[in-house]
Amino acid sequence: MISSDFYFRDKIPVAILGATGCIGQKIVQLLERHPWFQIVALCASERSAGKAYGEAVHWLMPTPLPPAIAQMTVQACEPNISCSLVFSALDASVAGEIEWRFAEAGFLVVSNSRNHRLNPQVPLVIGEVNADHLELAKKQPFAKGKIITNPNCSVIGLTLALKPLFDRFGLEAVHAVTLQAVSGAGYPGVGSLDILDNVIPFISGEEEKIEKEPLKILGKLSEQGIQEIPLKISAQCNRVAVTNGHLACLSVKLKQKASRQELIHAWNDFSGEPQQLQLPSAPFQPLHFFEEPTYPQPLLHRSLDKEMAVSIGQLRSCPLLDYKFTLLSHNTVRGAAGAALLNAELLVKKGWVFW
Ligand code: NAP
Repeated sequence: MISSDFYFRDKIPVAILGATGCIGQKIVQLLERHPWFQIVALCASERSAGKAYGEAVHWLMPTPLPPAIAQMTVQACEPNISCSLVFSALDASVAGEIEWRFAEAGFLVVSNSRNHRLNPQVPLVIGEVNADHLELAKKQPFAKGKIITNPNCSVIGLTLALKPLFDRFGLEAVHAVTLQAVSGAGYPGVGSLDILDNVIPFISGEEEKIEKEPLKILGKLSEQGIQEIPLKISAQCNRVAVTNGHLACLSVKLKQKASRQELIHAWNDFSGEPQQLQLPSAPFQPLHFFEEPTYPQPLLHRSLDKEMAVSIGQLRSCPLLDYKFTLLSHNTVRGAAGAALLNAELLVKKGWVFW
């Protein structure tokens, strides 16, 4: 184990697959000042390969594109690059096959895409919730490479809020209604005339992910693999005219009775390995409870604690289940790029990354 104050004389070289997309460029932005990682390759489709990154990307970040990055030549997604750690933000139509090829060639692939999330040999990890599941990757059929995934953007915030309730009181049922930002659909995403002055009560495949992925994440790792928890989740997903920040309204049925104050303590006291290890992308406090009746809100709270914290509020008793509350998390950072960085930082600290 590396001590928590270690630092690198030379940073760890990394590559980004899907570097020109919404999440890819968010990873580029987050890595600009990262203390451990340095970008050595930017990869995308044949449409972008061979061009300067600054020409191939439609830069949507609020900070300027660093000139040294803009000048880098975009490469095709071929496993012939000089690093061992790659972040994948590839479109799901190609991510499955390309990530597999990189793992076969010996790369450690940290993926945002959905393709391998439910593979029984692939860890589906939220740093604070199930860092121990990384061990599952040792079952993968590759000589050296591995694939590690982070969950769907809504699932990350939701499962972080459920984890302390699950540990302390047990969970029997969850009903979730999401109000999801347009950036969750990539760029250009939903047409402006479809979403302005409107709510779209459908996001393809999203409800299934919310109903399925937390069962694996909250599951127990054993010799046989992950034993999923028997929790019933019902989800309804809506796209709303918000740029960033997914809101979710949850009702939960607990196994043991708990007071309102006990739930609040469970959230505010919660932390995990990323906090113990003081990882660079870890929020200081992963869950923040607010008593203000109109909180949490995307505009006010999505940037909390490096855009990596989940804000919770509106806790009250539920006439159908036990309690209901509202939570908010930043979908492209906590729900994607930042979550992938946190997983990579965990892999470094656990000694999985060689360079
Ligand atoms: P996006 O903006 O559409 O970007 C897709 C990326 O994939 C681009 O870099 C694109 O390169 C590349 N690509 C497309 N076809 C390719 C091919 N045939 N070969 C190689 N590269 C190819 O998508 P995104 O929103 O960033 O999402 C990326 C992944 O993260 C998706 O799997 C998505 O489901 C997942 N995710 C997204 C969010 C979110 O909030 N947006 C949250 C969690 C997870 P070109 O520019 O060259 O076409």
